[in-house]
Amino acid sequence: MNEPDVEVVETDLLILGGGMAGCGAAWEAGYWARAHGLRTTLVEKAAVERSGAVAMGLSAINCYMGMRWGENQPEDFVRYVRQDLMGLCREDLVYDIARHVDSTVHMFEDWGLPFFKTEDGRYKREGRWQVMIHGESFKPLVAEAAKKAIGPENVYERIFVSHLLKDERTGRASGAVGFSVREHKIYVFKARAVISAAGGATGVFRPHAVGEGLGRIWYAPWNTGSAYALMIQAGAAMTQMEHRLVVTRFKDGYGPVGMWFLLFKGKVRNAYGELYEETQAAALDDFPPYGQGRPIPTPLRNHQMLLDLAQGRGPHYMRTDDALQALTQGMDPKAVREIEADAWEDFLDMTMSQALLWASNNIDPALRPSELTLTEPYLMGSHSSATGAWVSGPEDLARDGYFWGYNRMTTVPGLFAAGDGVGASAHKFSSGSYTEGRLAAKGAIAFIEDNGDRPSVDDGQVGTVIETLFQPYRVFEEFQGRSTKADVNPNYFYPKQGLMRLQKLMDEYVAGLGANFMTNEPTLLRGLELLGMLKEDMARVAARDRHELLRCWELWDRIRCAEAHARHVLYRQETRWPGYYYRGDYPKLDDENWRVFVNSRYDAASDQWSLETHPHHTVVD
Ligand SMILES: Cc1cc2nc3c(=O)[nH]c(=O)nc-3n(C[C@H](O)[C@H](O)[C@H](O)COP(=O)(O)OP(=O)(O)OC[C@H]3O[C@@H](n4cnc5c(N)ncnc54)[C@H](O)[C@@H]3O)c2cc1C
Repeated sequence: MNEPDVEVVETDLLILGGGMAGCGAAWEAGYWARAHGLRTTLVEKAAVERSGAVAMGLSAINCYMGMRWGENQPEDFVRYVRQDLMGLCREDLVYDIARHVDSTVHMFEDWGLPFFKTEDGRYKREGRWQVMIHGESFKPLVAEAAKKAIGPENVYERIFVSHLLKDERTGRASGAVGFSVREHKIYVFKARAVISAAGGATGVFRPHAVGEGLGRIWYAPWNTGSAYALMIQAGAAMTQMEHRLVVTRFKDGYGPVGMWFLLFKGKVRNAYGELYEETQAAALDDFPPYGQGRPIPTPLRNHQMLLDLAQGRGPHYMRTDDALQALTQGMDPKAVREIEADAWEDFLDMTMSQALLWASNNIDPALRPSELTLTEPYLMGSHSSATGAWVSGPEDLARDGYFWGYNRMTTVPGLFAAGDGVGASAHKFSSGSYTEGRLAAKGAIAFIEDNGDRPSVDDGQVGTVIETLFQPYRVFEEFQGRSTKADVNPNYFYPKQGLMRLQKLMDEYVAGLGANFMTNEPTLLRGLELLGMLKEDMARVAARDRHELLRCWELWDRIRCAEAHARHVLYRQETRWPGYYYRGDYPKLDDENWRVFVNSRYDAASDQWSLETHPHHTVVD
């Protein structure tokens, strides 16, 4: 292997990930950094214009209060999120997003994002928190604003960031290292503050599609949990890593159901025409007080569907046919066509595969219902899910242990997080993640201003990272001739094989789809043992080319996320979110002992984890 080129980039604020949160951070930093003469740099593994979970576009903005029309207040949002998360969220963080998110959404409109409007000029609502957009070009629009804000020369694309750097003396974040996915080149970014906004984790669990259709999942397949893995490795405290997202989606196409549920008032019926909310109504009584609250929390709705399936009443169908026929009854054909066009646009803006699947299966949703399914689990902090870093909240909403100087700073000084990267603060979605990026950037610039000195970057530390980065090439080079067929070699495995191994063990031992989301202590302990062996074997992961090198490091991300998840699930001795996962040995929700956050910290030097609980504080009654 030739020695790679190494480019060193000196900056003030370093943003990792150019998705919604990263672009929000760049836009806000552009304002504050310029005022202070500081440089902001954004690093993205793909191309910002079409990267991350919004790459394909969206058909709705799912977090909007509508305060200017008196539609909702931040307090309403906090109550909603707390109920959906079954009692556990960082109310200060949720409130902080709610009070700022409308201004973000108004900016999107100013920049040219087309919104559906009502006759009196308001945004058209899909549901209480969602507004409808023609969002195919949402990401290019947001990307353009970010690039302009910090200067296109400060945006580094197609660089996979694999390691954070820390000042070894002070423990402060001091930069990051990544490699180009196009050239044989390494980048060392030296910075005074860093924001981790590199997205949630998919592919940690075995998905529905394992052969035909492999890679087809709901959340962004290219988000491999870097936001978490980078912070875990740096020793940042993580919270709610036991939480996860499992959602109802159209089967195989993974099309969104929000518009059908909320706007078209579609009903989900089982194979016998029954409503599972009715057949399984009694199940809510087992999870007070959340089972009696409204709306019914997402995991509890999943739980009801799983019970229905276990009783042999599946499959479940979204009655698109009934919904459209009821909605269009008596309308003139032009109005009917407009409604049907909106229904198709919902997919074409966001999940084209669903439209293609319907077309290829001869399904006209106006005439035939469509099967629904529960997805495989994802780890993310921006949906109805709350994995991520334990961060400082804003000063004015501080409660005991919720504030330590700078909004959205992790427990590592100078390291901030946003979007999927922040834990215990769900339902941010696109607009809330962007808003959180803005909040993190403002906090990070304040940190830089208050801490004038530049943290030191140890050359030895950088050298070790560079050495490690290309190890999978060396493994392949050393052993490739030792068998007659390169694919079958006892001395190494490819990242795809490693991924299959990870997904199998997570599925079987850590409450994946194949185990009906069930686990218990002995099962988890065995899963952790197998995970330990996989970690050991990762010294023999091999890369034939740059593409596989990327996959090797993405696999490492997923392994780190998997371990954090398994350890948290083991630590929380209750079933708080049935329908997301079940602890067979602790099948009940236990508010008295477990309405607390589980926080963890990983020590890379000793490869040890420590876990503890942190009290929940009420900010909104
Ligand atoms: C199918 C689908 C439908 C959705 N529907 C809606 C909806 O209707 N309304 C709504 O408001 N929200 C919706 N969302 C949610 C929304 O997209 C997310 O909440 C939001 O994008 C999260 O922002 P983020 O910045 O944390 O992550 P992302 O936007 O995913 O950004 C993460 C970025 O980090 C980059 N990255 C990852 N790893 C690395 C690395 N190692 N080095 C460098 N860069 C890296 C990625 O390429 C990506 O650009 C949907 C998402 C999906 C996938």
